Amino acid sequence: MGLYLGLAVAPLLILGLDELPPRRDFWTELSVALGFLGLSTMALQFAVTARLRHVAAPYGMDVVVQFHRQIAVVATLMVVAHPVILFVREPALLDLLNVIEAPWRARFGVTGLVALLALVVSSVWRRGLRISYEPWRVAHGVLAVVAVAFSLIHIELVGHYLDEPWKRAFWAAMAAALIALLVYVRLVKPLRLRRRPWRVAEVRRETADTTTLALEPVGHKGMRVLPGQFAWLILGDSPFTVEQHPFSISSSATAPARAELTIKALGDWTARIAETPVGSRAYLEGAYGAFSIDRYPAPGYVFVAGGVGITPFAGMLRTLEDRGDRRPHRVIYATKRSSDLIFREELDRMAAGPLDLRVTYVLSAPPEGWDGESGRVDADLLRRCAVDELPEHMYFICGPDPMMDAVEKALLELGVPLDDIHSERFALD
Ligand SMILES: Cc1cc2nc3c(=O)[nH]c(=O)nc-3n(C[C@H](O)[C@H](O)[C@H](O)COP(=O)(O)OP(=O)(O)OC[C@H]3O[C@@H](n4cnc5c(N)ncnc54)[C@H](O)[C@@H]3O)c2cc1C
Repeated sequence: MGLYLGLAVAPLLILGLDELPPRRDFWTELSVALGFLGLSTMALQFAVTARLRHVAAPYGMDVVVQFHRQIAVVATLMVVAHPVILFVREPALLDLLNVIEAPWRARFGVTGLVALLALVVSSVWRRGLRISYEPWRVAHGVLAVVAVAFSLIHIELVGHYLDEPWKRAFWAAMAAALIALLVYVRLVKPLRLRRRPWRVAEVRRETADTTTLALEPVGHKGMRVLPGQFAWLILGDSPFTVEQHPFSISSSATAPARAELTIKALGDWTARIAETPVGSRAYLEGAYGAFSIDRYPAPGYVFVAGGVGITPFAGMLRTLEDRGDRRPHRVIYATKRSSDLIFREELDRMAAGPLDLRVTYVLSAPPEGWDGESGRVDADLLRRCAVDELPEHMYFICGPDPMMDAVEKALLELGVPLDDIHSERFALD
């Protein structure tokens, strides 16, 4: 966090060193400072979202993406404040918005700002604007590069504070670092993936709308994962594609030479997953994520799953079984109908086997004669099934957002410490 803050403010501080141009009024200087700070914060987003394992590891990818979303809005406000303060102070400057007649420094500044606003609007209101995920992702990347590159050129053309060659060199180095990061993400990473292909070894129907793909490494030893982590899946012959989707690894972490992903048909891409031909090529980028029992030692775990949110727990439970774990664990698994329960047979087998496991199924639309739990996972159910009996246990939650919100709230109300509650959200946007 300290490093992040340091990197965000360093460019501004460096501009204030050594020889300074003649001082201007307070508002002009404030506006320029906000512009510089906004730009360096924006540029740092490239590093935040580059799926650099060391950046995401301590927090988990969903937390990093959440941070990206919030800090990007802060950066945008700072960048927008830059021209707004200047316009309020000197309304004649509004002429600079006319990009046909304005000087080049203003053209680049205004275009960069428009790109940034388009970026924020299309991200915050993507669903409302009915922009589907893949085109949005491509546009997001292009707009981000335009916004930052044009702003850097704007700074260079204005030239104020950049009189000294070393300051120019510093900003040039910042631009070069961004280009290096782009080359790494778009070129180096896919090239590395190409050297580690996988083969679809099995396509297995789990329920009417969920399918498991079992992948085997081709010419390498596979992927080391922590139980509960996820990977980005690419299907097809080339890893140079934007069509890559994150999925939890539902197989045991003790078997790196086989990765299983259990996928629910949710949208256009996942709807075709059951038709994947056995023998076809795939690539896995990962593993990522902080949602793992191996990061949080405890006397036992309570896994609360909703729908396809059972997949990371399948990976964790299979790993615990393979390791011969003897601690007491609980699964609370909610779906609509019993036919939606994924891995039911295996969960029942595990509960009857050497693993000390109790599984509670919760159906919101139970069939006639269902003698299990029904309705929603609420505080009363959590208390009865886990909290009263296992006060020291660690809680892992994965499922639809409303369910996760409700379970997190209920656990806190029941006195489970925040540090003992871990969640993974499948929606990154
Ligand atoms: C950490 C993590 C683990 C996941 N694990 C599983 C799992 O084990 N099983 C499972 O069925 N689903 C899992 N998902 C969800 C899965 O990634 C999406 O359901 C899938 O990508 C939807 O793709 P689509 O094009 O068919 O659907 P669409 O209708 O196009 O998208 C539906 C939603 O899925 C998300 N999404 C779509 N494409 C992507 C993408 N390329 N990258 C990131 N998000 C995307 C967006 O929120 C989008 O709004 C996981 C998601 C995350 C973030």
